[in-house]
Amino acid sequence: MTDSPKQIYLSPPHMSGHEMAFVEEAFATNWIAPCGPNQEAFEQEMADYIGARGAVAVSSGTAAIHLALRLCGVGPGDVVLCSSLTFIGSATPILFLGAIPVFIDSEPESWNMSPSALERAFKESESAGTLPKAVIVVNLYGQCADYDSLKEICDRYEVPLIEDAAESLGATYKGKASGMLGKYGIFSFNGNKIITTSGGGMLVSDDLEALAKARYWATQARDPALHYEHSELGYNYRMSNVLAGIGRGQLKVLADRVQRRRSIFDRYYEALHDIEGIEFMPESSYGNANRWLTVLTLGENCKARPLQIIQRLDDNDIEARPVWKPLHLQPVFQGHNYYPHEPRNSFSDQVFQTGLCLPSGSNLEKEDQHIIIQIIQNALT
Ligand SMILES: *Cc1c(COP(=O)(O)O)cnc(C)c1O
Repeated sequence: MTDSPKQIYLSPPHMSGHEMAFVEEAFATNWIAPCGPNQEAFEQEMADYIGARGAVAVSSGTAAIHLALRLCGVGPGDVVLCSSLTFIGSATPILFLGAIPVFIDSEPESWNMSPSALERAFKESESAGTLPKAVIVVNLYGQCADYDSLKEICDRYEVPLIEDAAESLGATYKGKASGMLGKYGIFSFNGNKIITTSGGGMLVSDDLEALAKARYWATQARDPALHYEHSELGYNYRMSNVLAGIGRGQLKVLADRVQRRRSIFDRYYEALHDIEGIEFMPESSYGNANRWLTVLTLGENCKARPLQIIQRLDDNDIEARPVWKPLHLQPVFQGHNYYPHEPRNSFSDQVFQTGLCLPSGSNLEKEDQHIIIQIIQNALT
């Protein structure tokens, strides 16, 4: 219907205009397949962008985590430590492999994995005689975790670290690109991420041998034989050459998209930070966040709770959301171990109760953001 007001989404796709040329090239050359020149070029361009030696384009970020875990040797009964305050896709591959997830809380400074909770988890697993096989560290809402502290702990126990950079493409940590901070990095190009291929993901690493193995698993583990020989279990995980074309067009404007999301954050901050009880997700001094989403918390003294604000925005066809429900609270992960930031103080539970994610798409119009700001101001002052 043309006369209905337009919906403002939390983080919609934002095409650059460069995508169609790559997509048309795929059609013109008939590379309508899960392989082809766009796929290879997108891998190379992503690897170059972040400074990795290689990359494997796959069908989702979740698939990339699945492959990374398998490269770490994770199998049935193994323990994998994972951030709790994140999207489900960070952790489901642990269950795909029959392994056991153990969840780690966030710290208030960055909202990312708490080094002290990770330390406790390692100490306890060491005394139980079962060290974890891998650690999945999430960069929440586009901000890198504190890798120096987290990596020091993982290195001490010689356990590989997987960087879940699904939300943090374009962010940095101490001058290093997000995606390069662990043994493996993974990205998502789902429709809501900072750049998108409609759906897709990427596994990146400096270990080319490991990436070759991942590429093999992602292509149904086809051994080199004409008659389709399979000596290992694989998956159908490769990214379509058509969609890789979208990715190439999107990657050209990544720097601009980071800038726009940061400006959107700045405008929300300017307009709202003075309101009593509002706290914005902090940006750590060690890096540059891409501000994928602008997220804030509403203290007890605020005039409205997050759900009331979400309702008011929804009444105006504006989409806002609570923060991710922590995975240790999810029914599907019931019974799995959890290490809070402090022994009796779970930070992620608190943020879940008080957090609010605001529309942050890089194509959000200033006038629309102004309307959102006014609705929030009216609700809270
Ligand atoms: C989006 C996301 C994923 C999963 O990516 P998909 O491409 O949707 O499978 C994993 N981890 C985090 C933190 C995400 O935000």
